[in-house]
Amino acid sequence: MTVAVAIDFGGTKIDGALVDDAGRLLPGSRVRRPTGGSASVAALEASLDAVLAEVIRGVPVGEYLVGAGIGCAGPVDVVGGTVSPLNVPAWIDYPLVDHITSVLGDVPVTLRLDGLCIALAEHWVGATRGYDNVMGMIVSTGIGGGLILNGQAISGSSGNAGHIGHIEVGGFDDPCACGGTGCVEAIASGPSSVAWARSRGWVGETGEQLSVAYRAGDVIAVAAVERAGRALGRAIASATALNDLDVVAIGGGFSHVTPDLFTIIRNTIRSRSRFEFVKKVLVLPSALSGDGPLIGAAALVLQPHRLTHQPITIPLMEVP
Ligand SMILES: [Zn+2]
Repeated sequence: MTVAVAIDFGGTKIDGALVDDAGRLLPGSRVRRPTGGSASVAALEASLDAVLAEVIRGVPVGEYLVGAGIGCAGPVDVVGGTVSPLNVPAWIDYPLVDHITSVLGDVPVTLRLDGLCIALAEHWVGATRGYDNVMGMIVSTGIGGGLILNGQAISGSSGNAGHIGHIEVGGFDDPCACGGTGCVEAIASGPSSVAWARSRGWVGETGEQLSVAYRAGDVIAVAAVERAGRALGRAIASATALNDLDVVAIGGGFSHVTPDLFTIIRNTIRSRSRFEFVKKVLVLPSALSGDGPLIGAAALVLQPHRLTHQPITIPLMEVP
């Protein structure tokens, strides 16, 4: 058996674990430390180092450590190995790959956007197994995503491909933290939906409370969920028109607000386009609960054939 160190770095926490070559977390290997928007560089490094040290201690005697995969909140720069997570202002162009390499020593370290890790995990052992044109999505505090097309993970020029949270949805002009307006994250994330409901007079404060109010039939909560589902459906329809997707798997806390969210998304896609190649896209709940980001981070080193950005040498042809 080979194992990989998996790290998931987000706006509120770092998760780490050991994952085996069958895509399973090793029992007892999961570690968590806080990050947070007000944390200093030193505090973030201390959390990261503590996670790495504890995870490495768990490598079973005699097992082969194949490397470390890192999923990180965006934006990232996978060419330079640096990260600038939007919700962690202390880290701007932070050399995350170099730091982890300095701790782990001579093993491969691969960094990708956390959304791509979700897509890899669902494709490997989750809800989208058997499909080669996949988008993985997280609908939570923010909205992220990643793409696998023709069986290959798509990174793009800098590693930020598939960042669906910041595509613009028609009919909305809500301002977004990225500087744009009408981004699906600014409409359909948990906090965005709660803020919209509160602006209409609803008095709750969290996505969980919105879920309870929806189940009770609260008119504003129902409208907020329908609004989020419409925006998500339009965004997925656009992503499918661009990428000819087979399937989208959605995880994240706010995706559990109600199972009806998926019905609204599917109905929106069907009413949005007459194209069969758009209407065909399946929209499924994640099959991986909270383990998806770590399994996908491990896939970066345990499933390297899925990654693009590998150097390809094209032989020069002699002109006769
Ligand atoms: Zn945006």
